[in-house]
Amino acid sequence: MMDAALTRDWLTAAARLINANSGHLTALDTAIGDGDHGLNLRRGFEAVLAGMTGETPGAILKAAGNALIDATGGASGPLYGTFFRRAAKALGDAATVDDAVFAQALAAGLAGVQTLGGAAEGDKTMVDALAPAITALAAGGDPASAAAGGRDATEGMIARKGRASYLGERSIGHIDPGAASAALLFQALTTSMDAER
Ligand code: ADP
Ligand code: MG
Repeated sequence: MMDAALTRDWLTAAARLINANSGHLTALDTAIGDGDHGLNLRRGFEAVLAGMTGETPGAILKAAGNALIDATGGASGPLYGTFFRRAAKALGDAATVDDAVFAQALAAGLAGVQTLGGAAEGDKTMVDALAPAITALAAGGDPASAAAGGRDATEGMIARKGRASYLGERSIGHIDPGAASAALLFQALTTSMDAER
């Protein structure tokens, strides 16, 4: 069950994990991108925390999406911003939603990411961690381990979207930074949900 308090807990835990792993995300992006992913997201999630308002999951996620679009540099800002804004729209003004409905809303967010960025699963992007995590959540499984599995699978993939795609086959052997940050978001979700149970 998702409510406003748990939504705030999720975003707070996500910001903490992004901050703690910012150097690692940047190192991943240095290998196959331009080395700014950790910094971009740290700035973005600081803005999410600073601008956290709203009394429903939808309102809180909409504010988070807006903050990410405004404050995060790089390709990932608009993509994550769209993820939260589309999820928020799907949630509407419900005060509480069960996990299946929440998973559906996140699936709408993922669809927004894919419309904006054009990435399918297997293209070595954040989509490769987001998609299995949302599927696991919908099925009552553990989104954190599903996201981590998706993140790890990007190591063997050729990047077909974003800066890493410029490397072609040389992108093989590296974990995608956006898949790694998406796994942190779902690690935060699982931690927050487990704490509430
Ligand atoms: P930039 O590439 O502009 O420097 P970041 O470093 O913040 O932006 O984010 C890079 C991450 O964004 C990639 O690792 C990938 O997961 C994600 N990404 C980039 N382009 C796309 C896309 N078209 N669709 C989905 N995700 C993408
Ligand atoms: Mg980058």
